[in-house]
Amino acid sequence: MAEPTKPLRVLIAGAGIAGLATAVALARISSIANLDVQLYEQAPELLEIGVSIALSPNGMRTLEKLGIDSALSDETGFRGPSGIPQIFRHWKTDQVISVDTHHNVPDPRHHTTRFHRGHVHAALLEHVPRTWIHLGKKLVLAETDADGVSLHFEDGSSAHGDILIGADGLKSKVRQSFIPDYKLRFSGKVFMRSTFDVALVEGRIPGLPADSMHWWGPNDNFFASRLGKNQYTTVGAYSDPRPSEEIEQTIAWDQKGDVSSLRERYQNWNPVVKALTEATPYTNLYPNFAGDALETWVFGSRVTLVGDAAHAHGGAFAAGGSLALDDAFALALACRSPHTDRLLKTVHGQLDASRKVGPAVSPEEEDARLLERMRNRPDTVWLSEHDVEAEFAAVLQEAEKQKRSVAWGRVGVANGGPVALQTQASKL
Ligand SMILES: Cc1cc2nc3c(=O)[nH]c(=O)nc-3n(C[C@H](O)[C@H](O)[C@H](O)COP(=O)(O)OP(=O)(O)OC[C@H]3O[C@@H](n4cnc5c(N)ncnc54)[C@H](O)[C@@H]3O)c2cc1C
Repeated sequence: MAEPTKPLRVLIAGAGIAGLATAVALARISSIANLDVQLYEQAPELLEIGVSIALSPNGMRTLEKLGIDSALSDETGFRGPSGIPQIFRHWKTDQVISVDTHHNVPDPRHHTTRFHRGHVHAALLEHVPRTWIHLGKKLVLAETDADGVSLHFEDGSSAHGDILIGADGLKSKVRQSFIPDYKLRFSGKVFMRSTFDVALVEGRIPGLPADSMHWWGPNDNFFASRLGKNQYTTVGAYSDPRPSEEIEQTIAWDQKGDVSSLRERYQNWNPVVKALTEATPYTNLYPNFAGDALETWVFGSRVTLVGDAAHAHGGAFAAGGSLALDDAFALALACRSPHTDRLLKTVHGQLDASRKVGPAVSPEEEDARLLERMRNRPDTVWLSEHDVEAEFAAVLQEAEKQKRSVAWGRVGVANGGPVALQTQASKL
């Protein structure tokens, strides 16, 4: 009789979007026999927390491939009537200055979709058995040894497994355990975000666009959109010149903000934005932190990272949720894509540019510069329509090609000597 296969115990730190998607992807996409998944989440309860989150076509396609069908419905998420994913208007004149378009997204369910984050989280949770999830387990340290990986939690307990996936977000303890000197940097912006019933704005604000809308001003932007399940969101921002350490100590993620300061900040913007801030019932604060690209996502051959833990790009391009889903899928296909490095390079290029303070200019010159920036926004189709499955197939094909070339080179050594090997190696 054949020996039963020993279970492969995969520990996942964090049950956010990346952690849950990884659990689903490993169970459904990988072919690991006798898989034993255990998720460790610091929160004591699984609540629908957060405000709005956007998923681009890459994230929507991955949700479908993972079988998270409820997230593709028109009830759970919102896709604007125009089919245009991003529309950019001038802060004062309210004129449309620029738009992003979908390039190759034939299925409307894969168009950029906006959700309450809690609803994406809940849709993923429907596919993860509760017995896999351990709540109230705040990780303080992860380590590897000869026979596996260990997690140590704040409550004094530990867990042991064969493989560890760090899906514990921007301030990942898994990442910190293996790269202790990794630092996040405050981008200089604090977002003021709110989600509320659409009835507070729809039919009440003259000229309210039916589509999701970005308004750009000289220094700050404003975003507003309907979400799934009759929710609406507003997102403002302000600059805070204080250093990272001070921000970290004084503004907690999701801390209650002062809605009157949101209203004050946008009081001179066009009437639609002004009315939206007045209808916004509360606001929470989200200081935006980002970190550099990591040299590797694999530690001690048993540990890897997914989601914000792997690429701490902050809220840039609203890409975090979609990247987390793609990471989960790619991991299950045992492939990683270098394209998140390209995202981090773009983000840091923009941060560096925004830190440069130039001489004062006239309001006309400032407006001309704003219009130029809006029209020359970086094209991010490579990011929003990335096909993680096709990328994986291409990597496999390349690896096969290299394997064949090396084998051919060895034959060359046997038959034709070093010259044949050298000729073949130069083609790799
Ligand atoms: C509560 C919350 C609300 C959010 N709301 C929004 C939002 O409204 N809009 C938006 O665009 N993005 C939001 N985000 C971020 C967004 O979800 C992520 O950028 C994106 O989905 C990538 O997901 P992730 O799973 O990699 O990271 P996260 O979504 O950050 O998930 C990480 C998970 O790990 C857990 N965790 C962290 N540290 C530990 C630890 N030491 N031990 C155990 N568990 C730990 C967290 O509680 C969380 O559940 C939110 C994140 C969180 C945690």
